[in-house]
Amino acid sequence: MGHQLNPFHVAQEQFDHAAEILGLDTAMREFLRWPQREYSFTIPVAMDDGSTRIFKGYRVQYNDARGPTKGGLRWHPDETMDTVRALAAWMTWKTAVVDIPLGGGKGGVTCDPKSLSEKEKEGLARGWVRAVARELGAERDIPAPDVYTTAQIMAWMLDEFETLRGIRQPAMITGKPLPLGGSQGRMDATARGGVYSVREACRRLGVDPAGDYAVQGFGNAGQHAALLHPALLGGGRLIAVSDSAAAIYHPDGIDPRAVVDWKNKHGTVAGFPGARETTNAALLEYPVNVLYPAALEGVIAQDNASRIQARIICELANGPTTPEADVVLHKNGIHVIPDFLANAGGVTVSYFEQVQGTVNYYWPESEVHRLLDEKMTHAYRTVFDMQEANSVPMRTAAYLLAITRVAEAVAMRGWV
Ligand code: NAD
Repeated sequence: MGHQLNPFHVAQEQFDHAAEILGLDTAMREFLRWPQREYSFTIPVAMDDGSTRIFKGYRVQYNDARGPTKGGLRWHPDETMDTVRALAAWMTWKTAVVDIPLGGGKGGVTCDPKSLSEKEKEGLARGWVRAVARELGAERDIPAPDVYTTAQIMAWMLDEFETLRGIRQPAMITGKPLPLGGSQGRMDATARGGVYSVREACRRLGVDPAGDYAVQGFGNAGQHAALLHPALLGGGRLIAVSDSAAAIYHPDGIDPRAVVDWKNKHGTVAGFPGARETTNAALLEYPVNVLYPAALEGVIAQDNASRIQARIICELANGPTTPEADVVLHKNGIHVIPDFLANAGGVTVSYFEQVQGTVNYYWPESEVHRLLDEKMTHAYRTVFDMQEANSVPMRTAAYLLAITRVAEAVAMRGWV
């Protein structure tokens, strides 16, 4: 998916559009459309067969005017510097739209984690930290998980950093296992935040949350969305789900718990009893009330946008919709909750994890859920009111809000 697409060009195009509406001056515009700092490096890893393999690693600190940069690490064969730049830009707008005192960053490694042993993954995790250790820290830049990185990988990274520095600093990384200072409620935070925003959208638009929904991508974000949609909204029928290997469909509904258990046991949704096979492309086009794209970028593009029939699209994935497709969706009256608002629950609870680690006091899960709901609901309502007031799509409204906040901080610091 999205092979011809350069996500950073998409991110810049979206930014340019909002900057034009805001009438940002030329210097501020130029400053905010590029990362402040970026690192690209090699990571030698001792492989199980006795060889040493050199991996390519990245870290982009897009903007730190509002606070230390924050953002996840993606390990993927298609990872490029431009993917990382795009994701770092979106992190900057994301932390601003939910109004948490952090900037935006992102990192990654070009690799196929499915082909690596646990020992090789540990070597890669520790090697990544050694390459950029001087740039990391709770007051500087705070990594977290993203596609194909896990709590265990965060634990190795924390250990490497603390060993190098000779200190304990749990707030330097988030998405950690609970015994090492992780937060309650982090595992499902991205999906939970997305479902809270869907709840608000249904209220504002008069859409029945108990109708059909579909989920593309069945990892952390997708699985939890499948489970939390009915749990938090009091109903809903899951009619299709997919992962990188397969897509399945049933018009009478698929039991979310059973398909999550199947995926965890078999590693894929393929072969789930009773469901019919479909394709990732067809999954996006069913007439559902809510569609959750929760895989990778560029899946809703010019060629299929006019066939999308969802009432609400909750973009749990980063960048699933191209700018051309956005225009079509808006024209067809489809309500898009844009990625950096829809999936901001992850970074919000990451921020809560960082706060807890800094004061060395940990909250119960109920408190995390309450504060997350408060943040997401407030952010959704602010963006919704802004799109109404300015007669613009939700994505543009979210950009207007986020860019205004970041530009304000940059100007207050006297940078531009
Ligand atoms: P993950 O690694 O847990 O899961 C990714 C899922 O996508 C897997 O099920 C994989 O099989 C599926 N997938 C990969 N290629 C696919 C394809 N071509 N077609 C269909 N499915 C495919 O990752 P995740 O953490 O769930 O992240 C998913 C998306 O959500 C990403 O865009 C990520 O940036 C975004 N996101 C995640 C978080 C988080 O906290 N986990 C936070 C914000 C945004």
